[in-house]
Amino acid sequence: MFEVQGMSTLKANYISEDDGLPFSKIFDHGTCYTYDDIILHPGYIDFPADKVNLSTMLSRNLSLQTPVVSSPMDTITEADMAIAMATVGGAGFIHNNMTVEEQVNCVLKVKMHRPGFVVTPAVLSPSSTLQDIDLLKQRSGFSSVCVCENGKLGGKLLGLVTTRDSELISNRTTELSAVMTPISDLITAASNKSELEMEELLLTSKKGKLPILNDQGELVGLLTRELMKQRLKNPSPGSPSLDTEGKLICGASIGTRENDRIRARALADSGVDVIILDSSQGDSVYQLEMIDYLKKNIPKVDIIAGNVVTQRQALHLLQVGADGLRVGMGSGSICTTQEVCAVGRGQATAVYKVAKLADQFGIPIIADGGIQNSGHVVKALSLGASVAMCGSVLAGTLEAPGEYFYQDGIRVKKYRGMGSLDAMKRGSDGRYLSESKHLKIAQGVSGTVRDKGSVLKLIPYIMHGVKQGFQDFGARDMINAKVQRENGTLRAEVRSGAAQNEGGIHDMHSYSKVLW
Ligand code: 5GP
Repeated sequence: MFEVQGMSTLKANYISEDDGLPFSKIFDHGTCYTYDDIILHPGYIDFPADKVNLSTMLSRNLSLQTPVVSSPMDTITEADMAIAMATVGGAGFIHNNMTVEEQVNCVLKVKMHRPGFVVTPAVLSPSSTLQDIDLLKQRSGFSSVCVCENGKLGGKLLGLVTTRDSELISNRTTELSAVMTPISDLITAASNKSELEMEELLLTSKKGKLPILNDQGELVGLLTRELMKQRLKNPSPGSPSLDTEGKLICGASIGTRENDRIRARALADSGVDVIILDSSQGDSVYQLEMIDYLKKNIPKVDIIAGNVVTQRQALHLLQVGADGLRVGMGSGSICTTQEVCAVGRGQATAVYKVAKLADQFGIPIIADGGIQNSGHVVKALSLGASVAMCGSVLAGTLEAPGEYFYQDGIRVKKYRGMGSLDAMKRGSDGRYLSESKHLKIAQGVSGTVRDKGSVLKLIPYIMHGVKQGFQDFGARDMINAKVQRENGTLRAEVRSGAAQNEGGIHDMHSYSKVLW
C-alpha cells in the first residue's frame, strides 16, 4: 500500500494541536451539544466505502450487521416493521401499548417469518369482492391478492387475483371466486425449497407472483418479481439478524410496573430475544427492581435499560446487570419533555458521556431519538453508540403500523409520541411514570409524516450514507472508530450557527432534494 514517507515526523513538525479537537476536549466544558452542533473532520482514506464493516453489538449477547433499530412506538414497530428491520440486519422492538396477547402475537409473527418473502401478503377470502381489493389498494398499495379459504395467511390457498384479472371488470361487487386464477392454474413453490430454488422458479415461470405453500396447501408466504428486483437494486446492507434457530431476531418493550412481569414472561415464552424497559427517565427504583427480577427469572433474554443521559443514571442500571442502555431524553422529534419538565440533555453529549461509562462495563449503548439522516447515524456511532434507534426516520414507511391517508394532497401516515395525549389514552402513560388517572400531562405530540416507501429500500440507502461517512473520517469499522475516538485521532469541532447554515443547502432559488 502507498505510504507517505515520514508522515509522522511531518505531522509533528507542521500540524498544530488545535487543528480540530478530540471529543474529550469538546465535551469537557459544561455546554451540551447535539448532532448538528458538531462536525467530524475528514481522516485518511485507504479503503473503499463498500469495505466499511458496521457490524456491532445491540446488547451484551446480541450482535447485528446493521447498526439501526426501530423504536418501540405504536406508530413505528409492530410485526411488519420488526420483520423488515431484522431482514436488513437491524432489529425492531415491538411496542407495548397493546395487550400482552397482541404483543406476543407480533413476536410470533416475526419468528414465523422467513426472510426473503413479502412481509405481509394481501389475503382475502373467495367471497370478498373487487371493492375490497380497491380499498386495499387505496390503503396499502396492494393490487394483487391471494385468495385463501379463511381469508388469512396460513389458510388453504384457492387462487390469486392480479390487476389483469380485475382491472377491466366494471361491477366491483363481483366476488373474487368468480375472477381469480384458480390454484390449478398457478405456479406455486413448496416451503421446504431453498430461497435460490424459489427465485429460479419465479424467473423461469415468467410469473409475477409465487405463492409458497406448506404440505397441507396452506399459504405461508409470497415471493414476487417486484421484491426480487428491489433486492437486486438495493442489496441489504447486512445479512438478516437471526437467532440460534435461524429465526429473525425480535425485541419488545415493557413497562416497569408489577404486571409488566407477566408481560415479560409471556414475551420470553414466545421467543423474544431482547426486552427494552421503556421509560423516559430510567434511573428509578422501579427499573432497578425490574432488572433484578428479570435477570433472576428470565436470564436468557437480554435486558436493555433506560432511558438515561448521564453517567450517574447509567451507573445504577449497569450495576444491577443491564445488558444494554438506551440513551436520550428530550431529543425525539415528537418529544416535548425538555419543554415541559426542563430535564434532559443534548443528544451528542449524552451519547458520548454515557458511552464512555458503559464501555468500562463492556455494555453497548443505543443512541435513541433525534436521528434525522445518515449523517446523524455516523455521528451517533462515532460518539460511542453501538446502534442508532429511529422513530421519525422510519415513520411513514410501508411497514410502520397504520394506514396511509391524504393531507393537503400529500400521502401521509400518522406518527405520534408515546407521551402524546393521544397515545397515553391508549395506555402508554406508564412510560412517563404518570400515576394520575385524571390529569395527564403530554410530553409528546401527534402528527403525520410523508409516505417514505419501504424500509427495505430506505435502510440500504441510509447505511450506504453511513459507510461513506465512516470512509470520510477514516474508520473501516466500529472498532477502528472506537480506537480513533479514544486516542484522539478522530477530530471534530463545534459548528457556529452560520457554519451549520453553510453546511445545509443555501442560496438556491429552487431545488429538489432527491435522496436516491
Ligand atoms: P425520533 O427518532 O422520532 O427523533 O425519536 C424517537 C424516540 O423518542 C423514541 O425512541 C423514544 O425514546 C422517544 N419518544 C417517543 N415518544 C415520545 C414522547 O411522546 N415524548 C418523549 N419525551 N419522547 C418520546
